[in-house]
Amino acid sequence: MIRAAEVNKFFGDLHVLKDINFEVPRGQVVVVLGPSGSGKSTLCRALNRLEPINSGTIEVDGKQLPKEGKGLAALRADVGMVFQQFNLFAHKTIMDNVMLAPMKVRKLKKTDAYNTAMQLLDRVGIANQAEKYPAQLSGGQQQRAAIARALAMRPKIMMFDEPTSALDPEMVQEVLDVMTDLAKEGMTMFVVTHEMGFARRAAHRVMFMSDGEIVEDTTPDDFFTNPKSDRAKDFLSKIL
Ligand code: ATP
Ligand code: MG
Repeated sequence: MIRAAEVNKFFGDLHVLKDINFEVPRGQVVVVLGPSGSGKSTLCRALNRLEPINSGTIEVDGKQLPKEGKGLAALRADVGMVFQQFNLFAHKTIMDNVMLAPMKVRKLKKTDAYNTAMQLLDRVGIANQAEKYPAQLSGGQQQRAAIARALAMRPKIMMFDEPTSALDPEMVQEVLDVMTDLAKEGMTMFVVTHEMGFARRAAHRVMFMSDGEIVEDTTPDDFFTNPKSDRAKDFLSKIL
């Protein structure tokens, strides 16, 4: 589904992704853990070429990501992204936010885009907020709208970069619930998060990053009960 081979990335002299290799099969839920600055966001952004890489290859669904051009837009459309900041268009309603890309990129007709958007807003529990503007919604509702917007493109994989980190504590669970449902429905997911409960319950696999490397790549149970590296042990001792 998504494959990274020998991926390297530098910011100037700083080597932020070091020989990254992994493959995420269809339907797998991967949680990426690691200390601040370890390269988690850079990896997420590199995976759909929001961030250029210096060497290596990235494939989505067997197709190598082109460096630019039309093919890139099409491949990007297969990768849904949800960020810490919700990145909704402030001057558009929630409904318009969700309808926009499917009409523009997937060439959906307006009525089809509307119906799909309504279905998705219902699925994330905010159908009754469709005609409001982002600023009129709570953080948790905005993030659920952002998830609906990403899903509207019918992505093959959903990437989340700390989707709950900007939320008030009481809104974290409603977003995690939507993500857990997605995982149960078989969505392929790549999730950077500090929510260890989600990692334990919903993930099939944990990748632990430190200093630009994937240091451990195993099941959640194995990672939490039997971390192998000192770096992972140190990380876990600080968060658990
Ligand atoms: P956090 O948990 O704090 O979000 P992270 O694991 O997501 O951290 P990244 O944001 O990927 O870490 O950053 C990896 C390294 O690259 C850090 O040392 C960071 O300072 C550096 N970095 C990130 N973006 C840039 C940039 N645009 N220019 C220069 N350095 C950058
Ligand atoms: Mg980050």
